[in-house]
Amino acid sequence: MMLIRLTYFSYNRLNDWYASKDRGVAEILATSVANNLRDCITGALICHDRWFVQELEGAEDKVSAAFERILRDQRHRDVSLVTMQAVSARRFPNFAMACLLPHEDNCDLFRHYGEDEIFDPRKMRADRLSDLIEAMADRGTTGGQAWMKKPAMNAA
Ligand code: FAD
Repeated sequence: MMLIRLTYFSYNRLNDWYASKDRGVAEILATSVANNLRDCITGALICHDRWFVQELEGAEDKVSAAFERILRDQRHRDVSLVTMQAVSARRFPNFAMACLLPHEDNCDLFRHYGEDEIFDPRKMRADRLSDLIEAMADRGTTGGQAWMKKPAMNAA
């Protein structure tokens, strides 16, 4: 199986759909974890007030199918594909979809990797965006155990 990692960012529209953003994030993650466990997809999602940044990794056909669904989703807009590349190993093997929320323990990472006071993924290099996701995951995920189930995988 060829392992693919896809990275994109998009403009968060949860305010247009939900009274509470937490509710929106919870719904997205519940669907994502269920589908990703089924499809052996792993990854991480930064849920910033204005932006989503997501990495999906898995078999090419599964990742492409998930991305096509994600592109159609009205809960965000202006989805920009950053990279889609073959990789030799998963970066998030233990997460069907890790939820990464900005908070006081990781806000320095946005400044460090974004090189700006205001986080704007449109201004960031692809490698800096990936490094930000990885650094946030290293600091710890938030959002509840149900969003962090280990996928049952026998590949990569
Ligand atoms: P259905 O659930 O049948 O939905 C039909 C349509 O409505 C789709 O266009 C769907 O995108 C949209 N939709 C669904 N629920 C709502 C809602 N509450 N409000 C507005 N529109 C809605 N899915 C994954 O499988 N894996 C992921 O990793 C993943 N990550 C995501 C990250 C983000 C930032 C977002 C916004 C969504 C993500 N999703 C993910 C969800 C994905 O977009 C689809 O909703 C989901 O995969 C189900 O697809 P479906 O075709 O079965 O649509």
